[in-house]
Amino acid sequence: MKEIAKKIEARFLELGVKVQTSEIETRLEQLINKFKVPPEEARRNVINYFLKQHNIPKTEFFASRETPLVRASEIIENGKWVTLRCKVVQLWDANHESLSQSGLLGDESGTVAFKKWVKANLPQVEEGKNYLFKNVATSEWQGRFSVSLNKTSEIIPITEEITVGNTPVEFSGAIVDIQSGSGLIKRCPECNRALMKGACGEHGKVEGLYDLRVKAVMDDGEKVQDILLNREVTESFTGITLDKAKEMATEALDQAVVLDMIKSKLVGRYYVVVGARLDRFILVDSIRQDTKPIEENIKRILAAATAPVAQEA
Ligand SMILES: [Zn+2]
Repeated sequence: MKEIAKKIEARFLELGVKVQTSEIETRLEQLINKFKVPPEEARRNVINYFLKQHNIPKTEFFASRETPLVRASEIIENGKWVTLRCKVVQLWDANHESLSQSGLLGDESGTVAFKKWVKANLPQVEEGKNYLFKNVATSEWQGRFSVSLNKTSEIIPITEEITVGNTPVEFSGAIVDIQSGSGLIKRCPECNRALMKGACGEHGKVEGLYDLRVKAVMDDGEKVQDILLNREVTESFTGITLDKAKEMATEALDQAVVLDMIKSKLVGRYYVVVGARLDRFILVDSIRQDTKPIEENIKRILAAATAPVAQEA
């Protein structure tokens, strides 16, 4: 409570008003202990009381507050107001009408997802451009953190080029699913998005460019992990080149043959992947077969086969 009182006093001092700490504390104490008001509500209540007393508009008290500049990887708490200096790494399809833009921001420390609401009335950001995102709110959903841009947020373009850090991670487990949108796909020549039924979400019907990729799900027995293999990795790993994939599709008159082939090659087998984490994906740099589970299986089978014999003897 002393902490809250001190912060309130400091903020009023910045506005040129001296409020007694003891007076703040007494009011907080009454509200929290006697009237069982939640601390955050008590804080607002006390602030409003002194604002009224000193004739300070609420907007002045709250608006001029500078939020701390933090790194993307430092966002580990829900409901904080922060400022980020980030590059827009990726824009995602805004899948909700109240959402204006969403995607991934990154700085030297890593990445964090963002949501920008239509109501916020903020300018559009561009992929690959760098900005100062002032006054954004952190939130958590299923253990993942993101930031939300709303009415009090500010987006300031900066000329500085931010290098997005990506410490590689390793994951081993079985590939349990190859997702749709894998295999031979077409991309929009304008924005590089994967086309859905020949159309781009942004640019409509376009003459797409062929690409090869794998979106798969791995499972290590405890958790699942989405992985993404780009054309290069897919080609060298599956042995199917882009040209070969096009040939296969032309012959079968169906793009899906490539996906079926990839599925039959990968699903149910154990792999170790290494790559950078990008939101829920690992962007795979290298992938190799994991022989450990097979060796352990053989050991188990051998042990089971020899055990009864030992008992009988
Ligand atoms: Zn497009």
